[in-house]
Amino acid sequence: MGQEGQYVLRFGSLSKGDHEFEYVLSSDFFLKRSHPKVRDGKAEVLLHVNKSEQRLVLEYKVEGEVITDCDNCLSELVYPVNCSSQLIIKLTDKSEVDEVDLIHLPTNSYEINMANHFYDTVILNLPMKLLCEDSVNRKDCDADIMNKMMSEEDSDTSGNPEWQKLKDLFK
Ligand SMILES: [Zn+2]
Repeated sequence: MGQEGQYVLRFGSLSKGDHEFEYVLSSDFFLKRSHPKVRDGKAEVLLHVNKSEQRLVLEYKVEGEVITDCDNCLSELVYPVNCSSQLIIKLTDKSEVDEVDLIHLPTNSYEINMANHFYDTVILNLPMKLLCEDSVNRKDCDADIMNKMMSEEDSDTSGNPEWQKLKDLFK
């Protein structure tokens, strides 16, 4: 259970029916997972649990922000996180194959650590390209860096003998 006991959902002691829980994903939470693109973050999770005889339906919403770098200009930006996910826990003593949003636990189970489920939800919901214009303050890309990268690209191609040969062909 370690230091992250606060993300353990002790469903064994819950009565049947609906329950709600709130969690905070702190800076520490993000720092210890060190994703190559997500350097830091903070978020809140609202978890809704519906418990029945052999099944728990977990629906949760994550809201907050992560610190990352722009894929265009590489400057640091604060990216909004606003996503939701569902996880179904089936209590069974038969061996069955888990799926992305369906896991099987033995019938004598009474808790599940949600930390990595919350983290994966944040990561999987980030877009392929993280850009300044979509950041929390919707800023423009760093013009100096963009200009520098453009001019480097230009000098790269003009200095490339293969490229020069190709250009000669079309003369
Ligand atoms: Zn940018």
